[in-house]
Amino acid sequence: MDCIFCKIIEGSIPSKKAFENEHVLAFHDIEPAAPVHILIVPKKHIPTMNDVTAEDGALIAELFTVARALAKEHGIAESGYRLINNCNADGGQTCYHLHFHLLGGKKLGPLLQ
Ligand code: C5P
Repeated sequence: MDCIFCKIIEGSIPSKKAFENEHVLAFHDIEPAAPVHILIVPKKHIPTMNDVTAEDGALIAELFTVARALAKEHGIAESGYRLINNCNADGGQTCYHLHFHLLGGKKLGPLLQ
């Protein structure tokens, strides 16, 4: 398996974990773009948003539930945050294992460039 996030999930590449359960791992991004920058990742290998199916509905809901809880835990729920998925090359995706970036802890700039 040549997927860096699968290796992080199995533990062969270290990460600073923020949350883990049977279906989801969340860890702090190694190159944080904001004071809070956590990646929320399904343990199931889904390459991109394009590969999400109706069968993944409960899993996607769980990712959002974890994001909401982490935002609260890290004190950014009220001040505000972004939850971002980059899809494929033009979307800026570099790791081809589905993930959401939870970003906050500062006033974020304009979204679109
Ligand atoms: O959305 P995108 O695919 O570009 O995001 C991948 C993210 O994974 C990057 O923000 C990168 O810093 C992060 N990363 C990480 N730990 C690794 C490899 C990548 O946090 N070992």
